[in-house]
Amino acid sequence: MRTVIYPGSFDPLTNGHLDLIHRAAKLFDRVIVAIAENESKHPLFSLAERRALAARVVAPMRNVEVDTFAGLLVDYVNQRSGQAIIRGLRAVSDFEFEFQLALMNRKLDERIETIFMMPKDTYTFLSSRIVKEIARLGGDVSCFVSPPVARALVKKLAKAAT
Ligand code: ADP
Repeated sequence: MRTVIYPGSFDPLTNGHLDLIHRAAKLFDRVIVAIAENESKHPLFSLAERRALAARVVAPMRNVEVDTFAGLLVDYVNQRSGQAIIRGLRAVSDFEFEFQLALMNRKLDERIETIFMMPKDTYTFLSSRIVKEIARLGGDVSCFVSPPVARALVKKLAKAAT
């Protein structure tokens, strides 16, 4: 059983993340989308909300599950019997940080490989941050995120405005 972990904040899950999940699900027996709390990033959605949204979006995919984790990623990967970590590369600007992270994780546990995947070109400009910004300004995000995520963004931002 080949298991890959896809870690991130997923605040919220976008179609770019989903594109990578689809690609990984074809290569691995099991994909675990692992959501980190990332308190320091001041997420818009709580950990429970991000988990519920991601779980709804990946529900049709038989070999994909959603989980949350705290602490060191390599410890979590071992705990879930994973062999590899997936990270996304959208542009050169992602590279430096991702390269450092991958090498650090290798230092912590050299048995765990990091695999970089590129999304479909139309998603290379997409990030959770930009989606939140567009939604905040009243823009239509329906082509960037799944319908449950778009609805959750509208609801959350309406609440934040009151
Ligand atoms: P983090 O806070 O760990 O960067 P994110 O949820 O922003 O969490 O992203 C998780 C991973 O998904 C990162 O490797 C990021 O580069 C990748 N990613 C984010 N958006 C996209 C996208 N549009 N296409 C491909 N990969 C993406």
